[in-house]
Amino acid sequence: MKSLFIHDAIIVTQNPLREVLRGNILVRGGKIEYIGKEHMDADYTMEANGKIALPGLINTHCHVAMTHLRGKLDDISLEQFLERTFRLDSGRSDSGIYNSSLLGMYEMLDSGITSFVDLYYSEDVIARAVRQSGIRGFLSWVTLDEDKTTQKGSPLKNADKFISDFAHDDLVTPSVGVQGVYVAGDETYLGAKDLAEKKDTLIHGHLAETREEVYNFLNQHNGERPTEHLDRIGFLNPRFLAAHGVWNTLHEIRLMGRNGVKLSWNPVSNAKLGIGGMAPIPEYLGNGVNVSIGSDSCGSNNSQDIFQGMKFGSVWVKSDRWNPAITNAQSILDMATINAASSLNRADLGSIEAGKMADIILLDTRTPRLMLTDEVTAVSNIVYSADASSVSDVIVNGKLLKENGQLLEYRSSDFQDSEFV
Ligand SMILES: [Zn+2]
Repeated sequence: MKSLFIHDAIIVTQNPLREVLRGNILVRGGKIEYIGKEHMDADYTMEANGKIALPGLINTHCHVAMTHLRGKLDDISLEQFLERTFRLDSGRSDSGIYNSSLLGMYEMLDSGITSFVDLYYSEDVIARAVRQSGIRGFLSWVTLDEDKTTQKGSPLKNADKFISDFAHDDLVTPSVGVQGVYVAGDETYLGAKDLAEKKDTLIHGHLAETREEVYNFLNQHNGERPTEHLDRIGFLNPRFLAAHGVWNTLHEIRLMGRNGVKLSWNPVSNAKLGIGGMAPIPEYLGNGVNVSIGSDSCGSNNSQDIFQGMKFGSVWVKSDRWNPAITNAQSILDMATINAASSLNRADLGSIEAGKMADIILLDTRTPRLMLTDEVTAVSNIVYSADASSVSDVIVNGKLLKENGQLLEYRSSDFQDSEFV
């Protein structure tokens, strides 16, 4: 299919004016060529009357290869959770990682996620699943100190090779990751930064997720906090997309803002793990930190679903600050689309505008949940009412991957007797 015409949708453009309009979209060669009222001929026309078109959602933190852990790590203490995850993570087979990742990618596509950021080892295997599924993957090969890893060889060298091997790929964008201060010292952090600068990539990693991690660090570093420390050694920089940031102080948040660090907020995972606090989102936003939303792994958030992240995150902030006006639907949708794209340094993603990549999803407003949605209520209804089952159609890189509720390439039988460990 060379060209695709989406006819008569309510289009939530997420353009600079945040226009919501009724009209048509022409996709050609993987890009959005036209948006407006005119009717155009194409190889394939999708009738979108009764549907909302919006940019595909971007999940800015997950570990997709852990999809097989769904339901296996629930309702236990955080210590038990971490101990079991580390044990289950080591010694996996390539086919287990591939199958688990592919399943997670199908779940994301089914739920309207067209791009995701991943942090794991064996990202070369996960990249093969990206190509198979058709989703867009921003894959960060995780690094940590050599004496603490189960990876074969040096994690930094592995990351370097992965970035070189996948440097020019339509769907895979390789980068370097750092697990967190509890397993990565200054040398690893600065090595990852050097590598990211040399190869012009993102750096993705966990930061200030739990109080225990922060207190242990304080005790080992004469009272210096993790984010202060990373600033002092010169690590904080605009390439760094940090996940969680629950336990950063206002001073640390200011350091992140000043250094252009981005935050991936993972509200559902943080709450399910009983982290004990909410990432101070109003303070991040107030200090110029770009905030987007992540799901985290299927062990700590049992679904790869950014609709849940948008709604739960939004109502959590309102409740936490005793103020229903402290967030609004538009700013939350921005986090899941255009702001996420800019945190990945991808000006060609995150909105429906001519010239951008054609990553578009359609929601069905003929379902009871979204019935009566119009141009005025579309953004609110996406954030507060829609769920993953509202997603009827998904297009990534101009390719139709879900149509009228049917995920086109997915076969449940492919996964029934597969290896996942
Ligand atoms: Zn994580």
